[in-house]
Amino acid sequence: MYNIFNPTTIKPTGWLRRQLEIQLAGLNGQLDRVWPDVRDSAWIGGDREGWERVPYWLDGFIPLAYMLDDKDAIARAERYIQAILARQQKDGWICPCSKEERAKYDVWSHFLIGKVIAQYCEFTGSIEAEESLYKSMRCLYRLLKKGEVKLFDWGKYRWFECFIPLQFLWERYHEDWILSLARKLKKEGIDYHDYIDTWKTPLNKWVLYTHIVNLVMMLKYEAVSCKLLGGKYKNDADKLWKILEKYNGTAVGSFTGDECLSGIGNNRGTELCSIAELMYSCELLYAITGDKIWADRLEKLAFNALPATISEDMWTHQYLQMVNQIACVRFPGRSFFRTNGSESHMFGLEPHFGCCTANFGQAWPKLIESLFIRDEDGIRLTSMLPAEAVTEVNGARVVVRMDTEYPFRLGCTYTVETDAPVTFTLKIRIPAWAKSASIDGKAVEGDCVIEKEWNGKESFTLTLTDTPHFVERPHNLHVVEYGPLVFSLPIETEYKMYEYERKGVERKFPYCDYEIYPKSEWRYGFANDTFTVTEKEGNDVPFSMSAPRVTVKANLSRVNWDYADGYNTVADKVPRSRNAIGDAEEIELIPYGCAKLRMTEMPIVKKK
Ligand SMILES: [Zn+2]
Repeated sequence: MYNIFNPTTIKPTGWLRRQLEIQLAGLNGQLDRVWPDVRDSAWIGGDREGWERVPYWLDGFIPLAYMLDDKDAIARAERYIQAILARQQKDGWICPCSKEERAKYDVWSHFLIGKVIAQYCEFTGSIEAEESLYKSMRCLYRLLKKGEVKLFDWGKYRWFECFIPLQFLWERYHEDWILSLARKLKKEGIDYHDYIDTWKTPLNKWVLYTHIVNLVMMLKYEAVSCKLLGGKYKNDADKLWKILEKYNGTAVGSFTGDECLSGIGNNRGTELCSIAELMYSCELLYAITGDKIWADRLEKLAFNALPATISEDMWTHQYLQMVNQIACVRFPGRSFFRTNGSESHMFGLEPHFGCCTANFGQAWPKLIESLFIRDEDGIRLTSMLPAEAVTEVNGARVVVRMDTEYPFRLGCTYTVETDAPVTFTLKIRIPAWAKSASIDGKAVEGDCVIEKEWNGKESFTLTLTDTPHFVERPHNLHVVEYGPLVFSLPIETEYKMYEYERKGVERKFPYCDYEIYPKSEWRYGFANDTFTVTEKEGNDVPFSMSAPRVTVKANLSRVNWDYADGYNTVADKVPRSRNAIGDAEEIELIPYGCAKLRMTEMPIVKKK
């Protein structure tokens, strides 16, 4: 689908495989054992949540299980899918509610389970599941036409998500009702253009049209719609992205939303669901349009915003992350966030709300699924990450392998192996940040496009260069970037663990809650722009705070920086003064994705 390789042929290797192994041993891999809303869900005959949580979880857990080829995880995924299919009603309705409840059931989860089943079919080739998906979408079409179900709330705002399972069905059945259903959803769904003005100043109220997760999902609407229904692609996504970025952008490529758009501010929150979903939108946008800006945007999220907001063991996560995160502590009084509660930036099982608990698991596996793209004339590679894939080009078996420590090192060795001579084009994207690129020492201009006859086994090494540099941020602040990584001043941490039970949901190590307190100075600014990169060995956690695989030494000076008014665990957006107090100190910055407490956006100070 969307020209992405069949996922069964893709295998992550190196640090990326390790990251998936951590995920499998952590919350996403064990959620059906510890979390009532998945363990006892109505989707499988239990009495807990029967809407988005099980489909969200399976959307990440299925690719995780199959990519790692883990027998136990595959058996558990299989049990859920079989239980869901077994409960499908005679007329095709697949969601866990009675006939009488359908009119009030928000069909967003119907779209979502459709995505999950389509993905399951791609991994397993199951005809039974494919037929079940067909019947469920036909049923949805029939009921929408008769007015027995309607789009409202999430379904109305996420109508385009249904285009993903519909694309899957269209490629197999080519039946007109599939397109008719797509047109109907598009017509009855929200047109986000009507709300653009509301994205420019935070509303301080919870509404669906500035809801951060809706908006990042929305960015793919035109691409999936043109793919399925045709029509001229006008690149609306880029225009909409730029508006969101101008008024709500962060230093790590996300948008602020705590939980609706929150404006420019390094202490505003960004919901984890929005990181996972924005990555997925970027993946589809790059696959469908080939516009490499989406892959650049994807990398920034994947290597910075994503790992920062999930614990190293992947058992706990934040609901909201801040770019300048000096503590993750419950607010004793009124929450700092606009519409999210006082626990939202703690690490835990389900801080504030459980959507991210179920949904974050899709981020790493789907990134891997999107790495290899089939174009008409050959193969396009999204990002240089350790993985290999097998495909067939003009009857020849082709294996493409990437050996790399990227993004911790700026290069990759590619190996292409064919079992017969075959001509095709291999396209390797050169990221926009690269100052220069060379293959086996020979300079490359523009993107690396290799069109030739491939025969047997061949390897070559791509090297990219960059130097650590400042990137300007609003309020006259700066961040340091090097390659696709953003660097932060790490703040030493002290964890306080909380084990308890609330509303029948147990928090118990390792799925407990944590507050994180700062134990070192955070009030700094940049003294100059002299930086030194050090490559390090790291440990078995790819994004480790104690053993980062790359660091940037910088010269920082203390400044006067207050807390946000009334909150002694949140740094104010800007320092009180930009004048240095004390001499410059040499301090090692670490990747944003490694730093659980950090200062990222800082001023350039005036010398003492
Ligand atoms: Zn969420």
